[in-house]
Amino acid sequence: MSMIKCISPVNGEVYAERPAMPLELAKQVVSRARQAQKAWARRPLDERVNLVLSGVARLNEMVDEVVPELAWQMGRPVRYGGEFKGFNERGNYVATIAADALKPLVIEESDRFERRIAREPHGVVFVVAPWNYPYMTAINTVAPALMAGNTVIIKHASQTILVGERMVRAFVEAGVPADVFQNIFLDHETSAALIAAKSFDFVNFTGSVEGGRSIERAAAGTFTGLGLELGGKDPGYVMEDADLDAAVDTLMDGATYNSGQCCCGIERIYVHEKLYDTFVEKSVAWVSNYKLGNPLDPETTLGPMANKRFAATVREQIADAVAKGAKALIDPKLFPQDDGGAYLAPQILTNVDHSMAFMREETFGPAVGIMKVKSDSQAIELMNDSQYGLTASLWTKDAERAARIGADIETGTVFMNRADYLDPALCWTGVKETGRGGSLSVIGFQNLTRPKSYHLKKVTA
Ligand code: NAP
Repeated sequence: MSMIKCISPVNGEVYAERPAMPLELAKQVVSRARQAQKAWARRPLDERVNLVLSGVARLNEMVDEVVPELAWQMGRPVRYGGEFKGFNERGNYVATIAADALKPLVIEESDRFERRIAREPHGVVFVVAPWNYPYMTAINTVAPALMAGNTVIIKHASQTILVGERMVRAFVEAGVPADVFQNIFLDHETSAALIAAKSFDFVNFTGSVEGGRSIERAAAGTFTGLGLELGGKDPGYVMEDADLDAAVDTLMDGATYNSGQCCCGIERIYVHEKLYDTFVEKSVAWVSNYKLGNPLDPETTLGPMANKRFAATVREQIADAVAKGAKALIDPKLFPQDDGGAYLAPQILTNVDHSMAFMREETFGPAVGIMKVKSDSQAIELMNDSQYGLTASLWTKDAERAARIGADIETGTVFMNRADYLDPALCWTGVKETGRGGSLSVIGFQNLTRPKSYHLKKVTA
């Protein structure tokens, strides 16, 4: 039996491992989920919502285990306290809109006709989750899917192998029936085989573009609904009227927090020539304050990347850009803990352009490129020069200008004077190779249900 392993970035050793489930056993898990689904969907919405909220609350009680476990699995420093803030905010918010989002759209209610569009759960939803924000990305789908009356099977990333198991434990201890929310340890082949065998009614995949392609291929011809939340290369644009200090603070945080491993992390910044020099100088000072080190040390503000192979990609992109003329502004001597492996110093590059992979491909590390621009049109062209489109962060005091530029940017979300945040009231979505579909908000509920039309003609005497 093959084992799925989490190699800890803290020390490069196996932190946890679980046997990959063979296909026949996995099919039994799916079958239990299917059998449990109708009874779960028949329970009153309030009951389902409250059980999910109890699951969220139960996970919070596990904070003392969750936080160091996350540090060991993917390197997030313990001082940040896990990801409960976003996890709770999203879980709690979707609970407040569930009734409205799922209520039928009544077209006619007369003595002759009842015509309405109801929302029906899909059935069994498969959630494939990434390691970078392992709880927050999972709750985006798990909470609304369960509330809507689906049963859910979660397959978590190898790097965060314990997260699905722990979430399910919390939810089941809180009263969610065991067959309604199940964790499964699967390799890629078995995941694909299950999808190809029409096991699921909806698959939500959050991860890389290549992973998304594999899921789409596995689902081809099955008509299984897919939500694909994939990579990004999110830009920031600082206009000449921006609040400079706020822009530096938010954009540098957006570029480097979680060691830059955020789907909506800031990966490239375009700054108006009037502010460029000061922006760069302040950004270098901001980033130089990080303390890179062991994530279990409360003093550490920047942990290792989740895996040394992710750090290797960042190092390669930086080296390639520097070979092509980029200037690396962060002195490596400030970060002696950089070990050439998972522990990676943050970096800011200038003299960059879009011929460099560093400015085009997802870096997913604590490194960002800054370019000077002269005009909005140049900034728009550069922001759109990407295969991705998740978010864009505009910095200006002029909301109308931001809205105008926002209309021209190919992106899922337009931010003004903020970045790197998922508002659960808005739809989380992307364009181009960032994927398809949308989660959270009313639209997230719609994507986890299907419309069912009732056209009832009443018999009148
Ligand atoms: P990944 O390698 O694609 O893995 C994501 C999840 O999919 C993991 O559970 C992984 O399992 C599984 N997986 C990958 N390929 C698969 C396949 N062929 N068949 C079945 N399962 C497969 O991505 P990651 O490195 O974990 O996450 C980082 C990426 O996710 C970045 O590109 C980031 O931008 C993106 N992301 C996007 C969003 C968004 O909202 N758009 C949010 C977070 C992250 P294993 O770990 O076992 O391989």
